[in-house]
Amino acid sequence: MAAKPNWGTLAIRGGEPRGKAYDSITTPVVSSATYVFGSTDEITRYFNGDLEREEYGRYGNPTVRAAEEKLAALEGSEAAALFGSGMAAVTTALFELLKAGDHVVLTNDCYRRTRQFIGRFLGRLAIESTLVPPGDEKALHDALRPGRTKVILTESPTNPYLRVADLALYARARDSCAGANLLVDATFATPINQRPLEHGVDLVIHSATKYLGGHNDLLAGAVCGREGLVQSIKDLRGVLGGVLDPQSAFLLIRGLKTLPLRVQRQNESGLKVARWLEAHPRVRRVFYPGLESHPDHALAARTMSGFGGVVSFRLRGDVRLGSRFVDACKLATIAPSLGAVETLIEQPALMSYFELTTEEREAIGIYDDLIRLSLGIEDADDIIADLSQALEAA
Ligand SMILES: *Cc1c(COP(=O)(O)O)cnc(C)c1O
Repeated sequence: MAAKPNWGTLAIRGGEPRGKAYDSITTPVVSSATYVFGSTDEITRYFNGDLEREEYGRYGNPTVRAAEEKLAALEGSEAAALFGSGMAAVTTALFELLKAGDHVVLTNDCYRRTRQFIGRFLGRLAIESTLVPPGDEKALHDALRPGRTKVILTESPTNPYLRVADLALYARARDSCAGANLLVDATFATPINQRPLEHGVDLVIHSATKYLGGHNDLLAGAVCGREGLVQSIKDLRGVLGGVLDPQSAFLLIRGLKTLPLRVQRQNESGLKVARWLEAHPRVRRVFYPGLESHPDHALAARTMSGFGGVVSFRLRGDVRLGSRFVDACKLATIAPSLGAVETLIEQPALMSYFELTTEEREAIGIYDDLIRLSLGIEDADDIIADLSQALEAA
């Protein structure tokens, strides 16, 4: 390949060796739990490290390995490790990096289950954590405990307000804490819109269930970074067992091939729909980093190649108006998750924050009339027509 191939070329050819089993052009699904040794001598050479080969499914699989190589090519990382879900990636990486007495700093709008794992489960293991608001440099520096802070974790863009992290600021915080690693969950950005490793991040995490897979047909997670760090996380994956199955790895490879096309389309639709919503009299406010009204617009324009396919907005009303609007959508489908080819819509108050009261939700900035729209790859004009009729109907 050329010295620096473009994203479209990397998506198709990246991590794909020439000459595959049976002259197949696609990577075969190797559905095998274990692998045959020809002799005890082969076993000895394998364990001495003189022979590279498969051993047992929890330690590696050829289809999964091929998917890892393609993702590493796209992310621009030395290595990538895949897992059975985004949460398996997050929890395995954190277990590998932390021990009793350590401290974690994370932004308070991180994925809910990630916050729960760090606060509740790592808390039980004497690993303390501090939540900081996104973009608050002073709060970040006040939270650091040099010598004890071993992980700084943020997401970018975040859910549901699409806050964009100033990665240089987080990298400086990491530099001031010897032995700390900076982790970014870049699920919403994908390597097409942002490559955090270029900004000094140590590990990029993805829920590959979302854009990377892209078709709502698999669960997967990934961590990308330096070879040694990723290898230590893979070793722990072999112990904890959160591996990706080969069939999902095949689907993920297939999904990654169209990632640049899909994300480009979702970026275009995102901007178009966000602008349309912002001009609509029944919409109170739109949250999309591509809009000048977004607090992180300048930062996003400077550090990202696209603004993504998730648009959040507030209507002018209560939780029932939001529900009537969502229920009136005919094309956008009511479902959790994001990043796939189908446009999905949800009311965060009734999905991720259903157990809270209106007052409790408002205290953490989740309004009852907030809607999150995850654009698929249908025609933007059809999505707009659907939103338009639903706004009238509600
Ligand atoms: C969905 C999601 C996760 C969890 O990933 P799963 O694949 O569902 O386990 C983690 N982080 C972010 C930002 C997500 O959107």
